Amino acid sequence: MIKKRAIFLDRDGVINKKAKEHDYIKNWGEFEFLPHVADVISQLNKKFLVVVASNQQGISRGLMTLDDVNSIHANMKSELKKSNAIIDKIYVCPHYIKERCACRKPEPGMILQAAKELGIDLPNSYMIGDSITDIEAGKKAGCKTVLFGDTTAMQKVKPDFIARTILEIPNFIG
Ligand SMILES: [Mg+2]
Ligand SMILES: [Zn+2]
Repeated sequence: MIKKRAIFLDRDGVINKKAKEHDYIKNWGEFEFLPHVADVISQLNKKFLVVVASNQQGISRGLMTLDDVNSIHANMKSELKKSNAIIDKIYVCPHYIKERCACRKPEPGMILQAAKELGIDLPNSYMIGDSITDIEAGKKAGCKTVLFGDTTAMQKVKPDFIARTILEIPNFIG
């Protein structure tokens, strides 16, 4: 199998507006796209698989169900598709932080699973997120990393690139 390059996108804070601190996006009514997301994804689609990797521990905490999250994602995908933006696959970690699973970022489990299932060339792929845990997960998986937005957490882990807006992202990637 010829390995494919992928863009791994965090969801909250990259694709859609984050919930308030300690809250979660629990239904489609609370989901709000950030600007330019569909345009950028449809550009990325030309060269990359686009894979979402999202921590959603609100599921384990009983604030929403996996079905709720799946239904948000079905809406998100069909909304993006109207602008020719395709999400190839979505991975969700439903676990509570204390469960110490292998998939919750900063662990690389979701990225590694995607690499296995979709045949992804990790060293030539990118993890893009707005949290340092996204960058850590990407590094552990052996991807390049792009920190989107707030760079205050940067002292600890250095991303390969920093993007202030999602529109800059296609510039970083060859
Ligand atoms: Mg985020
Ligand atoms: Zn997990």
